[in-house]
Amino acid sequence: MGRLLIIGCGGVAQVAISKCCQNSDAFPEIMIASRTVAKCDALKEKLQPNTKTKISTAQVDADSVPQLVALIQEYKPEAVLNVALPYQDLTIMDACLETGVHYIDTANYEAENTDDPKWRAIYEERCKRLGFTAYFDYSWQWAYEEKFKKAGLTALLGTGFDPGVTSVFTAYALKHYFDEIHTIDILDCNGGDHGYPFATNFNPEINLREVSAPGSYWEDGKWIEIPAMSIKREYDFEGVGQKDMYLLHHEEIEALAKNIPGVKRIRFFMTFGQSYLTHMKCLENVGMLSTTPIEFEGQKIVPIQFLKALLPDPASLGPRTVGKTNIGCIFTGIKDGKEKSLYIYNICDHQECYREVGSQAISYTTGVPAMIGTMLVMNGKWQAPGVFTTDQFDPDPYMEALNQYGLPWVVEENPVLVE
Ligand code: NDP
Repeated sequence: MGRLLIIGCGGVAQVAISKCCQNSDAFPEIMIASRTVAKCDALKEKLQPNTKTKISTAQVDADSVPQLVALIQEYKPEAVLNVALPYQDLTIMDACLETGVHYIDTANYEAENTDDPKWRAIYEERCKRLGFTAYFDYSWQWAYEEKFKKAGLTALLGTGFDPGVTSVFTAYALKHYFDEIHTIDILDCNGGDHGYPFATNFNPEINLREVSAPGSYWEDGKWIEIPAMSIKREYDFEGVGQKDMYLLHHEEIEALAKNIPGVKRIRFFMTFGQSYLTHMKCLENVGMLSTTPIEFEGQKIVPIQFLKALLPDPASLGPRTVGKTNIGCIFTGIKDGKEKSLYIYNICDHQECYREVGSQAISYTTGVPAMIGTMLVMNGKWQAPGVFTTDQFDPDPYMEALNQYGLPWVVEENPVLVE
């Protein structure tokens, strides 16, 4: 296979890159390019002695299409894996189109400046039309469908765990276990403990924007929006135990609602402890989650970015996080005229991830599927002209690769359902 350019060198990227290096036959040559090149160089130094993959590094500002185009033209990769931030999705897609290379990412586009009037007008129209107010949605990237089709290139969106694996689980359930899926409950449980009073498991700005927003779910062909954290359920997770979980808006609901025929309801739940919620509410109440810049002693600062600088770097949580994650989907539907239910999930142990690649399980469960999706695009198994989510290709090679590369899954018939 050809060369891969990886953009970003944070928590998720470091796992994806480590996994590419374990899989040198699929990734003989990679380049790590990010804003802070010193991080790329440090990672190269750590990984290069133990891998056959030839690693190069570069500095790039992924907000700049000309810089990206110049780098792609110089390195000549076959694909670009975007594990920077959702803010960079569109500039990287533009650069891929301009240079004729495939595009892969783990999170859908989100605007960095939500006060930009041009963005806001489109956003407000979408809120009214679709009925959910999240800052992120697929419309921006789905708008690239014709361009990627014409160029004969693949854009694979959202190949992390959720979104990513959860949609592959859905495609797999539909292919092998159901004639029709009627309900999908995606349950994301993190039973890990890092010992800090408050920290986020991935980029704090993206994470806090997501969980402080109103929740929503899909039912009978439309979105139903609810105030943040206002639907709570309890569930007893295998490997973790009993946890409180809350209904959130999540991006794969949008793709699954569009692509799974006959689906009647899709919900997403994530576990949170009371202490996390109290900290978040307090930060929100004092204005620390705001994305609007304020003047402070002659300088402009964005409160949530300042908060990010104060919080522990998610990449540093690895050595101190103990416990397990359990992420999966519960399906109900029909097979051969009979009603049935099924749960597919993965359990991942924070400390085992740390021993293997030096990261906690949230980065691990995202970075491994990022590598797998990229491998399938590059080896042609998941290649087709256009813009795709992970529910749109044959799930079997992806499911096989999850077992092979550290995220084994379990299929359970007749699980306890979420009320
Ligand atoms: P981090 O903040 O740890 O890392 C982001 C990286 O991107 C950093 O290396 C940063 O550089 C780099 N970066 C930021 N802006 C630019 C820019 N303009 N140009 C070049 N590089 C840039 O984030 P995570 O690793 O936690 O998250 C990465 C992605 O994974 C996010 O999109 C997130 O939403 C997604 N994600 C997806 C999940 C899923 O299951 N699908 C779950 C968790 C995360 P610098 O080092 O200079 O800051």
